[in-house]
Amino acid sequence: MKSMALRFTNSFACLPDNFFVRTDPEPLDDCHLIDLNNKVADFLGLNSGFCQSAYFVDYLNGQQKHPEFDPLAAVYAGHQFGHYVPQLGDGRAILLGEITTDANQTWELQSKGSGLTQFSRSGDGRAVLRSTIREYLCSTAMDGLGIPSTHALCMMASSTDVYRERVEKAALLIRIAPSFVRFGSFEYFHYQSRPDLVKILADYVIKQQYPAFFGKVNSYFLFFQEVIRSTAELIAKWQAVGFAHGVMNTDNMSILGLTLDFGPFGFLDEYNPDYICNHSDHSGRYAFKRQATIGLWNLHRLAEALCSIIPMQQAIDALADYEKIFSRHFFQLMGEKLGLKERDKEVLTIINQLLSLLESNRVDYTVFFRSLASFDQAAGSSNLLIRNQFTDRDAFDAWAEKYQRQLVKESSDNRTRALLMNLHNPKYILRNYLAQIVIEKAERGDYSVISILQKLLQNPFDEHLEHEEYAQTPPDWAKEIVISCSS
Ligand code: AMP
Ligand code: MG
Repeated sequence: MKSMALRFTNSFACLPDNFFVRTDPEPLDDCHLIDLNNKVADFLGLNSGFCQSAYFVDYLNGQQKHPEFDPLAAVYAGHQFGHYVPQLGDGRAILLGEITTDANQTWELQSKGSGLTQFSRSGDGRAVLRSTIREYLCSTAMDGLGIPSTHALCMMASSTDVYRERVEKAALLIRIAPSFVRFGSFEYFHYQSRPDLVKILADYVIKQQYPAFFGKVNSYFLFFQEVIRSTAELIAKWQAVGFAHGVMNTDNMSILGLTLDFGPFGFLDEYNPDYICNHSDHSGRYAFKRQATIGLWNLHRLAEALCSIIPMQQAIDALADYEKIFSRHFFQLMGEKLGLKERDKEVLTIINQLLSLLESNRVDYTVFFRSLASFDQAAGSSNLLIRNQFTDRDAFDAWAEKYQRQLVKESSDNRTRALLMNLHNPKYILRNYLAQIVIEKAERGDYSVISILQKLLQNPFDEHLEHEEYAQTPPDWAKEIVISCSS
């Protein structure tokens, strides 16, 4: 069971030298696997026994050089908190190579936390255990929720010290995506006044990811339209599930509309549109309610970076569709959460009134929607379990009456609707306090909760009655949790 079955290529490494710097990972001391995502291993066609072997860990850690790896750190730039930073790049991630599956899908394999690169700036190239755990779990959570995201194959711990506010242990995350190209990858070449390289990158992305567009006269425009659509739909999904990314800088925006670079992200507990999950985001630029607007702002920065290959007016026209795509998708998802079939003005009012009620009554977003499946639409039902989540019960009753009328109008029935709603309203999300429990245990060498949480997050719509405690609202101590960019 050596590396026989593994075949790696690296098409990114075939781009001109301007795109990357070849960099070997710097091995961590005593690097050992703490969790493997079998689902990810399976779709990559990797044998899970092999993934858990010392060989594989040594390859990923850079202890041994795999003959087919061609490791590199890619360069990119980006608008960080609204300000252009001309050079960023993989400061602590290394693209090891690509795996092509039997289904002919190609996945880039990256190690995150693998040491210094030419783009590390003042950083140490490492990732601490706590941030690695957060990205590992959240990648699974996103997949379970059906939200496009990079995936995490496995996570390794080590005895290497790293220095943040305190001394911590370094860890390593192995993550995959069809492509890790970011909006900022295009910005880098645009602001370097290298339209030739913008074009090469666009051609590369189109050929690899959108082969149907390749060679068409308007291929760049079609590609840009796809980025707009996938970004708008991604953010609509974040909003519907209650996810805040936290650092929507253009260097963290995937060109494929994937959730990318998990840092100080957070899922809503109480419904609070003003929620700012990133402690360092003093102005609330990336507050939950601003994500859709920021997505559009970021797409404008991408349009500027592509202005040498897409006429500005065409890009502006395409951008005009963003809000429509976002709203349509969000409306669709919220209707599904409510178990409603129609999408008319009345339903829109029901959704909007509900959201303001959830906000003013500080109701837990996930618990509420999960419980709504048990709403009894028979006239006069008091729906106590749902009603009791609100402090303003009269306001809830007024809303419930409207909702009940709509259900009857749609000839809905309690049982069918409940089954359907449970497919759209997760019971389990990665609440900050759950991640915190896992982290505190892991820092003491106890990794036992990781696999439990992985199982719940991979199937968040199932009941898992034996693990109900993981569906609970945060305990009081969770209010003290502070998540910043330092990772
Ligand atoms: P982020 O906002 O975490 O996605 O990171 C922004 C930039 O900082 C990227 O270029 C990262 O590679 C870089 N970076 C973050 N943390 C580190 C670190 N510990 N060492 C080196 N570079 C880092
Ligand atoms: Mg980043």
